[in-house]
Amino acid sequence: EGPLMDGMNVVGDLFGDGKMFLPQVVKSARVMKKSVAWLEPYLEAEKAGCDVETKGRILMATVKGDVHDIGKNIVGVVLQCNNYEVIDLGVMVPAEKILETARERNVDIIGLSGLITPSLDEMVHVAKEMKRQGFTIPLMIGGATTSKAHTAVKIEPQYEHGAIYVADASRAVGVASTLLSDEHKPAFMDGVRGEYEEVRQRRAGKDEARNLVPIGDARANPTPIDWSDYTHGAPATPGITVLDVPIAELVDTIDWTFFFHAWQLKGRFPKILDDPEKGEEARKLYDDARAMLDKIMEEGWLKAKAVVGLFPANSDGDDVVLYSDDSRNETLTTLHFLRKQGKQPSGKYNECLSDYIAPLSSGKQDYIGGFACTAGIGIDDKIAEFEKDHDDYSSLMLKALADRLAESLAEWLHKKVRKELWGYAADEQLDNQALIAEQYRGIRPAMGYPASPDHTEKDLLWELLDAEANTGIWLTESKAMVPTAAVSGLYFAHPEARYFAVGKLNRDQVADYAKRKGMTRAEMERWLAPNLAYDPE
Ligand code: SAH
Repeated sequence: EGPLMDGMNVVGDLFGDGKMFLPQVVKSARVMKKSVAWLEPYLEAEKAGCDVETKGRILMATVKGDVHDIGKNIVGVVLQCNNYEVIDLGVMVPAEKILETARERNVDIIGLSGLITPSLDEMVHVAKEMKRQGFTIPLMIGGATTSKAHTAVKIEPQYEHGAIYVADASRAVGVASTLLSDEHKPAFMDGVRGEYEEVRQRRAGKDEARNLVPIGDARANPTPIDWSDYTHGAPATPGITVLDVPIAELVDTIDWTFFFHAWQLKGRFPKILDDPEKGEEARKLYDDARAMLDKIMEEGWLKAKAVVGLFPANSDGDDVVLYSDDSRNETLTTLHFLRKQGKQPSGKYNECLSDYIAPLSSGKQDYIGGFACTAGIGIDDKIAEFEKDHDDYSSLMLKALADRLAESLAEWLHKKVRKELWGYAADEQLDNQALIAEQYRGIRPAMGYPASPDHTEKDLLWELLDAEANTGIWLTESKAMVPTAAVSGLYFAHPEARYFAVGKLNRDQVADYAKRKGMTRAEMERWLAPNLAYDPE
């Protein structure tokens, strides 16, 4: 409680004032944690008077179905630096476990984290359960898909004792300390309530469905592609290809800009290394990352695996039918897509990914691809080792690097597909910058992303590619991929294919889509909740 805590207070203050960067904070926390671990046996021996006075006890968890925890772990470290006791329940934590622990351990705040869209619904569920079980402690909400709007519209109305959206790790401490202050809490809560009420009013007045056209009209305005003179080469290697990719192949194509994002150092790479403010820390972080990458390769910490499938296909309305071979007699599976339903000005289209595949009616032979890849095989053992050693810095570093390697693998794989396996761009010559900027022909939209926001289509992809057996990647009940350092999606080769956002959907399309997928409308609405332009019954 003496010098170590004094040190952490300085670190916490400097970080709060924006004078220290996240990597420094995490490294400082490592010193603290290792020291405490060393001291603990002595504290135990003395027993009496070893109740460390903390500012409060905060329970943190990534919700059921979700597995991402870089952000949550960062928030945990930052809170600990500021003398909060953090009980971290890890990932995929069911509501019951969160609330049970909260009650048993008498926590002061619950913090929920999530990355993929189905987690939004799970957070609403946790809030409802808190109300039902009579909780009165505040709830903090954070993670990539969460937002002030979602917290205001969907979560806060379920729980009157406070649901507060926390935009990033640097704010967590401010929010937590206000929530635990008898003096400041009431005014803060009034402020938040007022602000969220405004968000709700603005939304209520903004009939989102008004700007949508009936699905029939949207279908009458697809991406205009002339299929009459279209010929598409058959893939050189049709069917399934499984690849073990050496990590060394992936290092040069890492998109480092996103690595620095993960550490909350925003800025372009390599320019960030010379930034007058952040440069020094960025360089240290980069050196540490490079050193760990060498170890990853030398000592085989991570393995990368990929599966690609290339199949004959034709579109059938907004669906795409995949065939087992070019006779096109046997259907392998049918993939389903959603169409942009927003009113378009002239010259703009109501796109759907199926627009990029030749329709059955064209009589043309076309193809589609699917893939799943991971660079995270073996990561758990190493993370457990770091955690046992109280080394959050190395643990976060390894997770961030594994994510980067997985993205790099997705780029590497796509290139191999264009140049070899499919081979439609055998002569492509693009340097690293051009690859990162995706300046090639064709796209690889990911399921759960804006052009195909339905995560449940991953089930079909997994079955098609036998992805779990071929790569080891499995899907949680929310369709998050494990290991988390994984990327999956579809390949579209048409030169016109581009990324877009499906955006808001109306009842007619959702009902039709549910029917095509053989799911109930209510079930479909749950999965597509973030895209609905209406309130489901
Ligand atoms: N190079 C980056 C990752 C690129 S993210 C990194 O290392 O982190 C770009 C990828 O996101 C695309 O290749 C595609 O798979 C996905 N994507 C982007 N916009 C999309 C959209 N609108 N719909 C579906 N997928 C999209």
